Amino acid sequence: HPSTPPASESQTGLQPDGEYPGNLFVVAAPSGAGKSSLVKALLELDTRVFPSVSHTTRQPRGQEKHGREYFFVAQETFDGMIDSHAFIEWASVHGNFYGTSKKAVADRISQGSDVVLEIDFQGAMQIKKVFANAVLIFILPPSLEELRSRLERRGEDRPDVIELRMRNALVEMAQVDQFDYVIINELFETAVFDLKSIVHAQRLRCKAQRRTRHETFSALRIPAAPGPQTTD
Ligand code: 5GP
Repeated sequence: HPSTPPASESQTGLQPDGEYPGNLFVVAAPSGAGKSSLVKALLELDTRVFPSVSHTTRQPRGQEKHGREYFFVAQETFDGMIDSHAFIEWASVHGNFYGTSKKAVADRISQGSDVVLEIDFQGAMQIKKVFANAVLIFILPPSLEELRSRLERRGEDRPDVIELRMRNALVEMAQVDQFDYVIINELFETAVFDLKSIVHAQRLRCKAQRRTRHETFSALRIPAAPGPQTTD
């Protein structure tokens, strides 16, 4: 591997069991399930959720802009980031490398913003390992027939690639129990509502309400929470 970036980049990680004021949502799905459209709709509807811009070694497509869809980097840059532990997770997907930088996530959720990661299945599994409080959401298609016809309609892949994606989908869907929430993307509007509901429910958790509505809590003379309190 080539030279490594400054050490400070490697010290921006998350505590595995840390409590942060913001939530980390991880959305994964077999390709063709409609993950990108759902996350896009969530981001448009909810200005308190931020996307994390991943790094990738693949080439930009069409209108994609460096720093918006992805940070498009050379393989050596990506390898350097792996070496310096700059990623929370990274994976090789369809022949290219993709990674979520620690910095993009830790700063945001420490400051109380919610972050959503739209990453592949392997990445979601890695996140759960390094950060137990991540909220994992899996998107399922309504049927195998519908998944196949969505892949075909998309017109991006050759027939053999579609077969490969269908086989991968079966393997990934068999692991659905690793996730906290499941959305079946049959009707798009319903699925968007489901995703919004998950985000909203997280914000209504007792710990979150204590934080965001602490004035109401003290006006109601509710004492401080019992048990071990974390630093924030
Ligand atoms: P695409 O090249 O079509 O933008 O993305 C290909 C796949 O890589 C998608 O499933 C996408 O969600 C996933 N992906 C994008 N960014 C990341 C990342 O940072 N980490 C991981 N593990 N997967 C990612």
